[in-house]
Amino acid sequence: MQSGMEVADVFRNGADRFLSRYGHCHSREQHKVIRAITRCRTAELGGQTQFCHDCGHQRIQYHSCRNRQCPKCQAMARYLARYTHRVAISDRRILELRDGRVRFQYRDYADGQKSKSMMISTCEFIRRFLMHTLPSRFVRIRYSGFLANRFRKQRLDECRSLLGVLPAVPASVDDPQTSIADDDQLEAASKCPKCGSRHILTTELPSPHVLRPPHFLAARRKIPTSGRSPPS
Ligand SMILES: [Zn+2]
Ligand SMILES: [Zn+2]
Repeated sequence: MQSGMEVADVFRNGADRFLSRYGHCHSREQHKVIRAITRCRTAELGGQTQFCHDCGHQRIQYHSCRNRQCPKCQAMARYLARYTHRVAISDRRILELRDGRVRFQYRDYADGQKSKSMMISTCEFIRRFLMHTLPSRFVRIRYSGFLANRFRKQRLDECRSLLGVLPAVPASVDDPQTSIADDDQLEAASKCPKCGSRHILTTELPSPHVLRPPHFLAARRKIPTSGRSPPS
């Protein structure tokens, strides 16, 4: 039975302890994984409010982190991605989270593949999870032929031209390997979940990080911070 707890909850619980204990000996990529998982689908990443004109239903949808190690984002991938971009542990295997400890389900291959559970500290859970993090340039799939990295775009454009199809719309994501869109989810996002209407008003909710004063930009452009009033 699912607990309703997610890997993200375990990360939020143990991230501070983990970083103070092991933060110095982990890679930049692993730090990015912690940051992505703890912020995925929260107000930290911004999102959208949707208001249905027909029934008045309102909902908030926050953006996902699109990190390839994030279980929540991986749940959106299909087919091959289920195996090739597999994460260390999925949300449904989290059984319990209390007092800084997490109990999760695993399969014991040394004991006839029996399903068992184990309880460890959230700090240790994060340490083990991050052991599965791939270096930034490392990929589990190596493409060949017209999909080989070199000249891929040029060859795909030629293929599209020969086939007479429209150019693909570029995906605005950080990691193209996690951009496999789930058509059903996109369809669901465009409809009211209560009455099914498509008469929806969507308003963007910017990330709070976007709203912060761009100090680094001010420094780079040498914008005076005192002695003169800011431009109106
Ligand atoms: Zn509605
Ligand atoms: Zn995510």
